[in-house]
Amino acid sequence: MSSFDEMDAFEGASLSARAMARRAPLDDRHLKGLNQAQEEAAKQVFGPVLILAGAGTGKTKTLMARLAQLVKYGHASPHQILAVTFTNKAAREMADRLAKTPFELDHPIRWMGTFHSLSAKLLRRHAELVDLKSNFTILDTDDQLRLLKQLLKVNNIDDKRWPARMLAGIIDDWKNRALTPGKVPSTDAEAFNHKGIELYTQYQGRLRDLNAVDFGDLLLHMVTIFQTRPDVLEVYQNRFRYILVDEYQDANVAQYLWLRLLAGGHKNICCVGDDDQSIYGWRGAEVGNILRFEKDFPGAFVVRLEQNYRSTPHILAAASNVIRGNEGRLGKELWTDAEDGEKVRLIGHWDGEEEARWIGEEIDAMQGGTRGVRPMNLDQIAILVRASHQMRAFEDRFLTIGLPYKVIGGPRFYERMEIRDAMAYFRLVVSPEDDLAFERIVNTPKRGLGDKAQQTIQMTAREHGVSLVEGARIVVEEKLIGARGVKALRELIDGLARWNALTRGPRIEVDDETVIDDGVSPIRYGAPEHTHIELAQIILDESGYTGHWQNDKTPEAPGRLENLKELVNQLDNFENLQGFLEHVSLVMDNEQEGDGAKVSIMTLHAAKGLEFPAVFLPGWEDGLFPSQRSMDESGLKGLEEERRLAYVGITRAEEVCTISFAANRRVFGQWQNAMPSRFIDELPEDHVEVLTPPGLYGGGQTAATIETRAAEANVYNSPGWKRMQARQGQYGMSQPKESRNTVIDATAIASFTLGERVFHQKFGYGAVIGIEGDKVEVDFDKAGVKKVVSRFLTAKDDVPF
Ligand code: ATP
Ligand code: MG
Repeated sequence: MSSFDEMDAFEGASLSARAMARRAPLDDRHLKGLNQAQEEAAKQVFGPVLILAGAGTGKTKTLMARLAQLVKYGHASPHQILAVTFTNKAAREMADRLAKTPFELDHPIRWMGTFHSLSAKLLRRHAELVDLKSNFTILDTDDQLRLLKQLLKVNNIDDKRWPARMLAGIIDDWKNRALTPGKVPSTDAEAFNHKGIELYTQYQGRLRDLNAVDFGDLLLHMVTIFQTRPDVLEVYQNRFRYILVDEYQDANVAQYLWLRLLAGGHKNICCVGDDDQSIYGWRGAEVGNILRFEKDFPGAFVVRLEQNYRSTPHILAAASNVIRGNEGRLGKELWTDAEDGEKVRLIGHWDGEEEARWIGEEIDAMQGGTRGVRPMNLDQIAILVRASHQMRAFEDRFLTIGLPYKVIGGPRFYERMEIRDAMAYFRLVVSPEDDLAFERIVNTPKRGLGDKAQQTIQMTAREHGVSLVEGARIVVEEKLIGARGVKALRELIDGLARWNALTRGPRIEVDDETVIDDGVSPIRYGAPEHTHIELAQIILDESGYTGHWQNDKTPEAPGRLENLKELVNQLDNFENLQGFLEHVSLVMDNEQEGDGAKVSIMTLHAAKGLEFPAVFLPGWEDGLFPSQRSMDESGLKGLEEERRLAYVGITRAEEVCTISFAANRRVFGQWQNAMPSRFIDELPEDHVEVLTPPGLYGGGQTAATIETRAAEANVYNSPGWKRMQARQGQYGMSQPKESRNTVIDATAIASFTLGERVFHQKFGYGAVIGIEGDKVEVDFDKAGVKKVVSRFLTAKDDVPF
């Protein structure tokens, strides 16, 4: 032994482990750069350790340094360490950090992942202990609901009064609390009209018969096994000599028990967390677990980290001030010795599209180094939104100006499942020959048209040489599938025909002369009865697609419904469904390829544990953020959770943090006024710089956008706008007054000349080839020849980018 320190570090390690460790030259590179408290936590290898600290204080870094310490000094080999966290994203972040820690691993860390993934792995090995086979299926929520519906039927319970979805929520909640049917307390006896517990028992029985588990079962079964089979528990207590937990504040009771049981023998458990970042209350996370840690593990070594290494003092002050509004916190003070840097920037916009446009320009300027801050790469910039439907405006804008971006933690807007499904319905209504669209939706939502029925439709269509929709019609007429299938299929194709008819008005007879005169088809139609926006809604509702997501109780379902609303909302920019579908195919075409640097767009939830030099936080409006739904459902608790989300958002930023809001947002094609988020008033004035939107309603504005805005002039009289005006001085908003007066004269902007180069928001650049009243025919470089309304065109020289 060369030094006393080194001897300490090896204490308790087995001889063989020491010998293994000796093979590599010993150095403490993995601890380099840790501060004293962090180093202590990393080196405290015996017994329970709790690192309780605010954002950006190096919790994850320390946890991974500790992992290196354990391996390096032979306390555990890589497969004897269990490293667990709550979300997939956080698990990946741990792995990334480990990869950055300077030390070499002989073997990968096999047991690093989320609670659910690790539990599934364990349960496969011991399925028989809970009467399952190791090849059990993990049910998706669709199947889960169907199962519950069957149960309700068997029990003669009216699904309308007592929906299966509600029962699923109750059962999930019990599972999150690690309660098997026998353990549900009598205080819950009233649940689901006094039948909840009995139904839960039956449901678990059915799952067993099906050799299936739901998501909650993964943990619940493992907890049960650990509790009832001490021999099995002991195997894993010995196997996992060290347990490391990141984002501990998000663990629910079942996860907490799972951990406590596994760590019960050696008690070598290290949890890191921040009570101010607990944002999964809606999934049963219990922040109280952190507070209980010292009770459950007496003598725990508790480390508090107070130095923040991520953010500038202004950003830190803003985050601290906002979170101070919450009660019952452990209360941690953070400090940093970083340079002051830029104040948190705050800006109010007229509407959501304007916000997206401005952020696009800012990013461009940052990239070019003309923003006053150091030049940034696109991958150093992130946009964090509260709700995923907010992403659409950014995606459209960035595609238009060719700014590379990626959506993290989910597909891009038009690639989302629900958007693709909805689009498939629209496509099929517009063009019934679209077989791909038909295949996509024939059984979405599930209507009992399984593989066999679909094969029959395919074969019939092929035999007759017709489209799938036509094939389906023949299948129905000739009753080539079972009676229930025929009924479902008839409903679908009748629906398609009905919606298709709604794309047109009544047929108008046209005499031959007129036809000869303008040389077009003799079939003419009047104006359709419904707008294309109404039609889209009718299609989604009547097809059962909206209802399908309304009945889904997964945490993702409300987001999907919001995305669908956003999709319908988006239609307002187009004349008809066809035009919209064309736009989307153009957007898709435009997609950036390659692995170059990209701006990240993600939700606040997905951003936890991550960091970026520049962060944009758009949509800080009451109702959107804090979210109305969360406040309605959980009152003050919900509001506090939203505030923690705000804290998470601000603390992601290292150097530049920009918060913005809009006075108006379009929801469901309707303008809605919004009040700035109450969190904005919780920002500390001294650390915030209020920006004036440059050129907003003034100089840099193009005639076309001003005119569009003037058409919406009724919004200027709205109460929301008036409230905004009252706050104007405070937040640097400017008024649109002058521009209103200058733009109403539409003739002033319709003056394009043949051959002139023009720009259109959706179709890009092109040349004018015809003018008809207020319609202009343009040969677009990418989109081909189109007739567009002149007010959506800009003379090329006026294009603002
Ligand atoms: P969060 O609560 O957001 O998960 P965290 O507490 O896990 O944050 P880390 O992500 O581990 O914090 O660290 C934040 C940043 O500070 C990282 O970039 C990390 O490399 C850096 N950092 C942490 N500790 C130190 C240190 N002692 N010296 C220099 N940089 C550090
Ligand atoms: Mg972390």
